[in-house]
Amino acid sequence: IQRTFSIIKPDATRRNLTGAINAKIEAAGLRIVAQKRIHMTPAQAGQFYAVHKERPFYGELCEFMASAPVVVQVLEGENAIAKYREVMGATDPAAADAGTIRKEFALSKGENSVHGSDAPETAAEEIAYFFAGIELV
Ligand code: ATP
Ligand code: MG
Repeated sequence: IQRTFSIIKPDATRRNLTGAINAKIEAAGLRIVAQKRIHMTPAQAGQFYAVHKERPFYGELCEFMASAPVVVQVLEGENAIAKYREVMGATDPAAADAGTIRKEFALSKGENSVHGSDAPETAAEEIAYFFAGIELV
């Protein structure tokens, strides 16, 4: 059993899509074991996305992630990291497979509705950035 970290991004929370996205997560066999709504500052979003600091879209990405509340989650299941990336679909919704969250809900490459960790090390770091040990059972 594995855990991954997820964010339901501002474009999705604004459109009241948290429940619809959670339904897709659960239908894929992933269990939501922790979840809360937060509103990041641009600096907090910048620290979270620090690996993308040199990319041209970094400033825009940080502003977007701080533009409205998000829902941060810990998901659990067999191969949760890879499975959730499959459920999310490609970064660019135009390239995402049918039935994926991004195909169904994302607006663009930037406003793409969800984030999911890409490896066990980043999943552990990202979970620890947003959740205290006492919140994880
Ligand atoms: P995430 O890390 O959010 O799960 P990802 O792993 O599919 O998404 P990354 O390459 O890690 O994609 O990019 C991180 C985020 O940066 C993307 O989800 C998207 O919101 C934004 N992004 C990536 N490429 C672009 C781009 N060309 N223009 C605008 N925003 C982008
Ligand atoms: Mg990524």
